[in-house]
Amino acid sequence: MQYVLISSCLLGLQTRYDGSDSFDPLILKLKEDYVLLPVCPELLGGLTIPREPATFEQGDGRAFWEENTRVIQETGGDVTQNFREGALKTVDFARFLKARIIILKDGSPSCGIRKTNVSFQSVCGIGVTAYLLRKNEFDIYTVESFLDHT
Ligand code: SF4
Repeated sequence: MQYVLISSCLLGLQTRYDGSDSFDPLILKLKEDYVLLPVCPELLGGLTIPREPATFEQGDGRAFWEENTRVIQETGGDVTQNFREGALKTVDFARFLKARIIILKDGSPSCGIRKTNVSFQSVCGIGVTAYLLRKNEFDIYTVESFLDHT
């Protein structure tokens, strides 16, 4: 069966900054046809649970990679390097598994596909990891867009 990488919080793992999850029961529909593997770019980048919420200072994942913008925490801590490392490791992991399909949690500064977070406001845009995966020609989806696609 084909491997599909999925944002760990969507699978019910409590990896969000506040130790909660974003479990999506629609994921269960995929279990019969795919091997679902969790990945959390922020943890791969060395951040912990719990951790301060993070946001783009300006721009989104495209600006992060193309214009060297930063990701910061509520109290001003700079987690740019953690986000960079987590994204690079996620791409390596996907390559290693030959997983071409990646399903990500929308709205996150790491995993967002249609929406992300700038100055702690929800805005249209793409996250750090989502952008790098797309740039490396992986197929990235939200849960809904993947179910629509299949
Ligand atoms: S980085 Fe991605 S997988 Fe990890 S908690 Fe945030 S949205 Fe979920």
